[in-house]
Amino acid sequence: MSEGSRPRPLKEAARITQMLDLVLGADRFDHVPVNVIDLALEYSRHVAPENPVHEVVERNIPGCVGALVYSEARPRQWAIMYHADQSVGRRSFTVAHEFAHYLLHRQLIEEDNRFDGGAYCDENAIVRRDGSGIELEADRFAAALLMPLHDFRRQLPAKVRADFEALGRLAKRYGVSLTAAILRWLEYTETRAIMVVSNEGFAHWAKTSDAALKSGRYIRTRDTVFELPPQAFAVRRDFSDAALTGVMHQAGVWFAEPVHEMCIRSERYDLEITVLQFESDGPCFQEEEKASDVFDHFMRNG
Ligand SMILES: [Zn+2]
Repeated sequence: MSEGSRPRPLKEAARITQMLDLVLGADRFDHVPVNVIDLALEYSRHVAPENPVHEVVERNIPGCVGALVYSEARPRQWAIMYHADQSVGRRSFTVAHEFAHYLLHRQLIEEDNRFDGGAYCDENAIVRRDGSGIELEADRFAAALLMPLHDFRRQLPAKVRADFEALGRLAKRYGVSLTAAILRWLEYTETRAIMVVSNEGFAHWAKTSDAALKSGRYIRTRDTVFELPPQAFAVRRDFSDAALTGVMHQAGVWFAEPVHEMCIRSERYDLEITVLQFESDGPCFQEEEKASDVFDHFMRNG
């Protein structure tokens, strides 16, 4: 299938979102998250009666979080597999991601011999949402389907800073993990915020809001080792209520400006999630540009 003829992830997610709003009501998230397993089974039977997703099953797939596989026999029957031992919230995003591969990429997966009997997706692609190509498309679909932006923004407006109470409430509303809810928030927030996922004081990965990135505030974890500062809750192993509420650190602890830090530990995954939030405005490249304009002016006239 050519790039142009492939249904786009957001368009496809919007189509299903509209359908669910129509059937279940626009206030459906007040009652229940998307039941993505039932949706994958029913919707695929509707759009491709010959080649549906005929089961969604838990399997032990070492090194993978989820997979979309097909039968040898034709007409193809498809199955979504999720790796054992995932929380219900993680499982939901995993199944939505594989459902996206089914809707958007199944022809490619069948025809391209880079895929051997199916698509196998790892933690980087699904949990961190850090894949490219069809992995990125599947993540965009999954996030849009499970956490529609119009609803999410109403719950947590773009200019509002977040606490774990609000983020936890949203994770519950959409039936996803806390990490997935925070990643969604970081996509649209106009506040300057960073999430760091760490273990034993070292960052595994981090994600930055656009506003933070534009002001030069981010944490690099690719091809480098980032050690959290000794004052961080995760390093002090302080996972008390004080860590959940957070504390304001002075300039020099995390960055060259003060930052609010809060931290929560996941025993299940043996990880700490730290959320850093800066004061609203703060340093901005615009000011540097202005400064250089003034400098140019002096140079020209001096
Ligand atoms: Zn994938």
